[in-house]
Amino acid sequence: MAETIYDVAIIGSGPAGYTAAIRAGEFGLKTALIESSGALGGTCLHVGCIPTKALLFHAEVWDHLKHGADYGIDGVTQPVLNWQQGLKRKNAIIAKHVKGLEFLMRKNKVNTIEGYGRLTGPAKDGIHTVSIYTEGGGGAAGEQSFIKAKNVIVATGSQAKMLPGLEADTRILTNIEILSIPALPKSLVVIGAGAVGVEFASIFRSFGTEVSIIEFLPRLVPVEDEEISKELTRQFKKRAIDINTGARVEKVEKTTDGVRVTFTDQNGKSQVKEADKVLIAVGRSPRTDNIDIDKTKIELDRGFIKTNEWMETAEPGIYAIGDIVAGMPQLAHSGSMAGMVAVAKIAGKHFRPINRLRIPGCTYTEPQIGSVGLTETAAKEKGHEVKIGKFPFAGNSKATIVDSHDGFVKIVSDAKYGEILGVHIIGPSATEIIAEAVVAMDLEGTVDELMYTIHAHPTLSESMLDAYGAVEGLAINA
Ligand code: FAD
Repeated sequence: MAETIYDVAIIGSGPAGYTAAIRAGEFGLKTALIESSGALGGTCLHVGCIPTKALLFHAEVWDHLKHGADYGIDGVTQPVLNWQQGLKRKNAIIAKHVKGLEFLMRKNKVNTIEGYGRLTGPAKDGIHTVSIYTEGGGGAAGEQSFIKAKNVIVATGSQAKMLPGLEADTRILTNIEILSIPALPKSLVVIGAGAVGVEFASIFRSFGTEVSIIEFLPRLVPVEDEEISKELTRQFKKRAIDINTGARVEKVEKTTDGVRVTFTDQNGKSQVKEADKVLIAVGRSPRTDNIDIDKTKIELDRGFIKTNEWMETAEPGIYAIGDIVAGMPQLAHSGSMAGMVAVAKIAGKHFRPINRLRIPGCTYTEPQIGSVGLTETAAKEKGHEVKIGKFPFAGNSKATIVDSHDGFVKIVSDAKYGEILGVHIIGPSATEIIAEAVVAMDLEGTVDELMYTIHAHPTLSESMLDAYGAVEGLAINA
């Protein structure tokens, strides 16, 4: 039988890889998807976006129950937490979506291959060879095989960085271990206040855990607009989360039954926090060190793969997408869009490159954060004369109805033509409302146009209308 030559072989089945595979199938390309972990879905589905959002939803329900009496619902003011049941539901959601992905692969005639994929070098006569090593599961352990493909997409994702000298276990946790801890800890130290760190802080605080955050940079969620960081800090403090920014961790040790974290605070003083567990959330490193990149011309930047705007690497016929790409945010939706771009390029279909300034950033804490485009500081640094519009959720009737009227919408616009340079939201459903800002910016809407775009009443998105109006000093509800 003639050897199969795939149009595209994709290494890694996270959101970047599985989206690329589905789109390739939709275009009628002969596609192979290689995955080493035994299940489709990657970090996002198994130990990232989906399980954390499931737990954040449980936390939100729990927080609402605490106010049951205010809503006229008696008998729920003393709810009892069943942590194990929460984990069970989270796992059921993951399992359902793994099945969904398997179905989509069959539907789109994608051949899924279990094993660890490695590059073998440049193409020969336009055909690449990918080596696949099987560790067990679907195939015999230790078997090596090869597949051939005209194009290869590398989508091997990322893993949690560890602090030097530490190893994850039952008390020193990364995003993987913390999502399966058998019982709620009484106390937790979170090292790192990016999206991952603050989301876990929010979940566990809702359930009653004493939470301390230690962050090296001077503020929480350092990539966000400064006013957003300030508001998150204010609201986290209201929730009695202990916040230590500008702090350098010196030592993490295990005590008899917990952990001790020693750090230098922002005033240069040595401090100690003891807790049941510590979560290390100090960033994610790309999985590019064990796939034989050095056999190719692929260029790296601190371990991340350099690509052009079509996601092509320096090695002809090899593309890279997702968390491993240099200069892209490590977010599921930017990885999956990169997958669609790469496959469209391979298939010769219409597409457009990703605009880095149109990728929404979402943090699903209580309160939520949604943002897109330039922060106020970045806009000024780029030489824009900015005009700011800010509208507090306190003036939005739906926010009062859903009992969540802290926070605001902030519009950063260019003073000259009213171009929207950035939108920053902290408050209820911020991660949903931000979508309208992304579309508006993508279609190059101006403040003038958006302040006359009708928004339904009463909705949280009406706060956008007021914020656009606020740029011209014309908010109605503030
Ligand atoms: P991954 O999802 O990491 O998938 C890579 C896959 O490749 C894995 O299945 C791995 O087993 C496989 N693989 C690796 N090497 C090989 C090999 N050599 N051969 C075969 N298979 C291989 N992003 C959001 O947008 N929204 C969120 O709410 C969000 N929440 C998050 C919460 C947490 C706790 C974490 C840790 C991350 C979160 N992220 C979120 C980030 C998101 O998970 C990642 O951006 C996304 O998973 C990256 O997708 P990817 O396809 O590049 O890689």
